[in-house]
Amino acid sequence: MSTIIRMSWSDVSAEVERLAARNRGKAFTEVYGIPSGGVPVATLVAPMLGLPLAETPTPGRTLIVDDLVDSGTTLRRYQRLGHHTDALWRKSASPGDLAPAATVADGWLTFPWEKDDGEPTDAVLRILQHIGEDPTRDGLLDTPRRVIKALKELTAGYAMNPATILATTFDVTHDEMIVVRDVAFSSLCEHHMLPFHGVATVGYIPAPGGRIVGLSKIPRLIECFARRLQVQERMTDQIADALVQNLDTLGVGVVLRASHSCMSMRGIGKHGEMVTSRLTGELRNDPAARAEFMGLGL
Ligand code: ZN
Repeated sequence: MSTIIRMSWSDVSAEVERLAARNRGKAFTEVYGIPSGGVPVATLVAPMLGLPLAETPTPGRTLIVDDLVDSGTTLRRYQRLGHHTDALWRKSASPGDLAPAATVADGWLTFPWEKDDGEPTDAVLRILQHIGEDPTRDGLLDTPRRVIKALKELTAGYAMNPATILATTFDVTHDEMIVVRDVAFSSLCEHHMLPFHGVATVGYIPAPGGRIVGLSKIPRLIECFARRLQVQERMTDQIADALVQNLDTLGVGVVLRASHSCMSMRGIGKHGEMVTSRLTGELRNDPAARAEFMGLGL
């Protein structure tokens, strides 16, 4: 497992002095920094050696510098072209001939010019380290970025507005219950940020002269509340409230049935379905309507 080592500017200056000292008086006429970490190094080293920065490196004349030799692939390419290479630090596992005098530092090195404090990907990286993983291994290198991207997608509901979703209505005379059954949804429980998956059944009775919404709007409304950090009970209420507030109805009903990973994968480790419901108006008070709706939802 590797630890994050944050190199400060004073760490950098000390290493820059060493690098300058060991390359002073040699036959170089210019300094070139490998983008992007080598650029600040070259910028600091060049004036100390009294040399200009190279626009384009010339073999034999240019000192090529980098901040860190890791796998050494880039520096090796320059070395093969006949360049002399050096770096401030190298890993103990790095090829020793690319910057033999560089200070050995193992771990996850970060430099002042790549400060990413407060970056969400940095937080994921820390979590990976916390569980004992090595964020520098191949399969995990791009994981922090992917995790943040997935989280944004899974919480896209915060940017969706239920009023907008339900704004388009049709003027159709219909006074019977309208039900959309078993709409699959996935959400994240707000206690563990683990997924819960289930189906939603949503119904309403239009008020006399009331308007109805297109069928596709109900799944979108469910999505709007599912793609947030949730508890199933609140999600049920939010769907019902949005219908009450945005449609003219005699009653609405919402039933959610879901399995929670935080219950099946951890804790008591048992599978089971949780059922939540919310009924208003006639769907709550008229026993026949209530029984009909619950029959469809369960
Ligand atoms: Zn949970």
